[in-house]
This record gives sequence, structure tokens and C-alpha cells, in this order.
Amino acid sequence: MKIICIGRNYVNHIAELNNERPDEPVIFIKPDTAPVQKQFPFIIPEFSSAVHYEIEVIVKINKVGKHIAPKFAHKYYDEISVGIDFTARDLQDKLKAKGLPWEKAKAFDGSAILGDFIDKNGFETVDNINFELLKNGQSVQKSNTGYMLWKVDELVAEVSKYFTLRTGDVIFTGTPEGVGPVAPGDVLEGFLEEKKLFKVQVK
Ligand code: ZN
Repeated sequence: MKIICIGRNYVNHIAELNNERPDEPVIFIKPDTAPVQKQFPFIIPEFSSAVHYEIEVIVKINKVGKHIAPKFAHKYYDEISVGIDFTARDLQDKLKAKGLPWEKAKAFDGSAILGDFIDKNGFETVDNINFELLKNGQSVQKSNTGYMLWKVDELVAEVSKYFTLRTGDVIFTGTPEGVGPVAPGDVLEGFLEEKKLFKVQVK
């Protein structure tokens, strides 16, 4: 499986990092070595002193697709969750400044948390779902999928122009505002509406 991530999909997050609003979605990939195994902690890598959490709504692809039309995109995922796109922000800033790829800052071992997937049909629409990240019991990121610049179906279609989607692939749909650093001992919990879909310890 591969993980396809979208950057800069929420206006207020673009502003907090002083990024430009993109004309088309920013896309990058994490390899299948990125996810933290269930029940395991997230271990801060030694090459960064500023690893940030980014909670994101994620969808799991249920069949092979390429050049998917936006109106058919909803047929390519049944399950939805929340995850974390861990980012070595200090390293990413350096790479960005030099115009280099972000992989070392975004795709390292342990850089993805995948929450438990649930049936998308439990929601009226995927375009109006509240989600939230708690750090040590305090709300640090809270948003709604309605604030995405590109909606989930548009993202599935856009991604499939470049990459064949396969069963089990996961799309991270971008983070809203409120990103921040993690420290050893932190506990992160992700919610889709009232459902807690992951809990991870930071070490
Ligand atoms: Zn992200």
C-alpha cells in the first residue's frame, strides 16, 4: 500500500505557515514503512527537534482506479478515519528553502498514524464531518471537512491522474490550522465526530 498526502488544503493552515495558496493540490507520498503499528508509540526521530502533529481525515481506497472522474470518486472508498501526518518541521523548512523534496521530513519511518477505519455511510456526507485532535486531553486542532479547498472526491480524482490507486491505499486529505510540536510523554487522540479512532503515545 501507499499513502498519498495532500498539502495546503485548508486556508487557515496555509496562513499559519505563511505558504502560498496553491492553484492545484500539493501532493506527496509516504511509503508503506511510514505507518506506526497499532499499539506502538510514536518515537521522535533523532534528526529533528521540531516534529509537528497534523491531524487529517483519511480515506481507504477499495478498488483499483486511474483517471477517476470526480462524480465517480465516491465509489472508490467506503471507509474513513483520522490520522496524523507527522512532520519534521525544522527539516521541512530547510528543504523548502532549497526547493528540495520533502520526503525526509514527511515520509520517514513512523511518520503516519492511521486511525481505525469506519464506514463512511455512517455520515450523511463526507463533506461535513467534524474532527479533532486532543494532546494530553486538550483540544489542539478542531475543524470540519467542509473547510477543505478541494473536497475528498476531487482529491481522489486529482490523485488518480498521476498515481494508479490500489485497494488498501490511503489518502491523507490535508491538515487544518493548529499544528504544533510534540514532546516525549505526550498522548495524542484523534476523533471523527464523537468517535475516538486513535490514541498514540509519544516517546
Ligand atoms: Zn499534512
